[in-house]
Amino acid sequence: MSRPNTPDRINPDGSKTITTKRACNGCGDLIGDLTDNEFTAALMGRPLPDVRQECPACAPTAPPPACIPMKVMAGEVYCLLRDCDHNIPDDADYCREVREEIVCSTHSEFQASPEEDYEAVTHAQPWPCKQQMGAAA
Ligand SMILES: [Zn+2]
Ligand SMILES: [Zn+2]
Ligand SMILES: [Zn+2]
Repeated sequence: MSRPNTPDRINPDGSKTITTKRACNGCGDLIGDLTDNEFTAALMGRPLPDVRQECPACAPTAPPPACIPMKVMAGEVYCLLRDCDHNIPDDADYCREVREEIVCSTHSEFQASPEEDYEAVTHAQPWPCKQQMGAAA
């Protein structure tokens, strides 16, 4: 698995375009371009994926990416956007149709909205995550 590694570009007007790089979470070396997924993860405060298996220095000793529990809000889109007709209690951010779920952030998939002010879970891997047990076997 390899990711693009875009070199910095000098534009005709002399300015520089720098593609944000992902640093290895093991040794800190830059391993390539930041992916869209990592960009939104950083933006949303979601744990960044473990990339040690992509790093030449760390890959030989890196364990499979660890599962990381993460709390997400589950419910109808309109409820999550607080755009529903339900009554939202004063002490809550959402109506009672919205529930908290714990998912594995490593093995779930996320999709940022075009406005990037929220992120939808396109594949929720329930916690405790069974993926890790499968990988260890
Ligand atoms: Zn590394
Ligand atoms: Zn997992
Ligand atoms: Zn609602």
